[in-house]
Amino acid sequence: MPTPLHHWINGHATAGQSGRFSPVFNPAYGEIIRQVPLADATEVDQAVAAANTAFPAWAATPPLRRARIMFQFKALIEQHADELVEAIAIEHGKVKADAHGELIRGLEVVEFACGAPHLLKGEYSEQVGTGVDSYTLRQPLGVVTGITPFNFPAMVPMWMFPIALVCGNTFVLKPSERDPSASLLLARLLKEAGLPDGVFNVVHGDKLAVDALLAHPDVAAVSFVGSTPIARYIYATGTAHGKRVQALGGAKNHMVILPDADLEQVTDALMGATYGSAGERCMAISVAVAVGDQVADALIERLHTRLQSLQIGLWDNPASEMGPLITREHRDKVRDYIDDGIREGAKLVVDGRSCRVSGHEGGFFLGASLFDQVTPAMRIYQEEIFGPVLCVVRVASYEDAVQLINQHAYGNGTALFTRDGEAARDFVSRIQVGMVGINVPIPVPMAFMSFGGWKQSLFGDHHVYGPEGIRFYTRLKTVTQRWPKSIRAGAEFVMPTMR
Ligand code: NAD
Repeated sequence: MPTPLHHWINGHATAGQSGRFSPVFNPAYGEIIRQVPLADATEVDQAVAAANTAFPAWAATPPLRRARIMFQFKALIEQHADELVEAIAIEHGKVKADAHGELIRGLEVVEFACGAPHLLKGEYSEQVGTGVDSYTLRQPLGVVTGITPFNFPAMVPMWMFPIALVCGNTFVLKPSERDPSASLLLARLLKEAGLPDGVFNVVHGDKLAVDALLAHPDVAAVSFVGSTPIARYIYATGTAHGKRVQALGGAKNHMVILPDADLEQVTDALMGATYGSAGERCMAISVAVAVGDQVADALIERLHTRLQSLQIGLWDNPASEMGPLITREHRDKVRDYIDDGIREGAKLVVDGRSCRVSGHEGGFFLGASLFDQVTPAMRIYQEEIFGPVLCVVRVASYEDAVQLINQHAYGNGTALFTRDGEAARDFVSRIQVGMVGINVPIPVPMAFMSFGGWKQSLFGDHHVYGPEGIRFYTRLKTVTQRWPKSIRAGAEFVMPTMR
């Protein structure tokens, strides 16, 4: 058995004690490269205890000192970027340039977190009553946890912990067991940056570890990113245990193409947004909504041509544009969706099912697929496929496109391609989706905005990172104070008012 990875508890690599392990694959080879320990409740308890013990001193550390550690952390990530990119790409399968992009988007949240002293400033009102002033504080919650998906093993944890930490919380990360190495590298770099032991911990695991975190009395808040059924479960269970929860789920992101759009631009945008990272992105475009048959026909023709030269291959080949899927099971599931689409009557224009990468036949590769004539009743339209499959839905009008999107269960991201400002403004206003792109296919907000979907794509009240992240990881306290001169006003038994 390959050497197992370790947990990271109280600033140290800690061997798994449960006796349970899960294999970690290199998906391009289809081979097991290491084992990850799966924590039980005792190990989760150790991590939470370490975080709980570290909390009072960390919460009392001036925000500027906390921010300075983030500055160091940012510099270390930059120094160790190659190592991080390799760790991400080898376990996930995405090509290195894409892994680097993920790292940078995570790094931007670290940069945002460096502004903590400013972001944590409260409000102050002088003289809210005679001789009375009032002000607000934002205080940390305590031990908070992040439970993250496989598709961004560095970026999604970095959506959470930099903000949580600079707000004065301590953190227990439960990364995806499919690609756990990046989180351990980040833990090591945090320590090197000067983070005190116990402030950041990593426990690997599956449902057992997650359930232990959800029920733990010393965990104050849960940030989750993953699929919708699990997000719903996390939200219900976490809130039932009295915790603050933000649980981001799956997606089915539509791109609407109006007849006036530049189809060359649209084709470029769709190629990257659909097939980049083999479609394993929560903001991937999986439905192209063509307004009018002319647009649909011209688009299909262009995509068909472009897909013939799409480069599928290994993570470390600079020519590769798309890698394999994360596991054999997931590859087979995506293939089943393609079979299903054919059965349901959609027209498979490009069939990626027989894709082979020479010399790597055991890899979990699947070619890019393209469906035309998809209708809203089909499973391939309704469900998240999370693979390199694009569904083209033909509608007669812009209005039909808006209705289609608004009726869908998911509401993570969407995009409109057009030159018509009036239509764009109307779309932004009426669309029932959390993140909207106008001529931008993947409108992931920058680190100083906040990320989050609507409907089945997010359970909870706060989006992640940016200003919403600061709100999620802090509690508001409002202080009303008087320093009375030595004048006695006498006891008052009625509600104090200013009248
Ligand atoms: P997943 O839901 O299978 O796993 C996410 C996390 O939950 C992992 O840490 C996993 O160990 C844990 N988990 C899995 N099953 C569990 C269970 N039964 N009980 C408790 N915990 C459990 O998701 P995934 O396959 O790793 O990631 C892909 C999904 O994540 C897609 O649906 C994608 O859309 C979604 N995602 C959403 C966003 C977003 O911002 N909305 C971002 C990235 C990924």
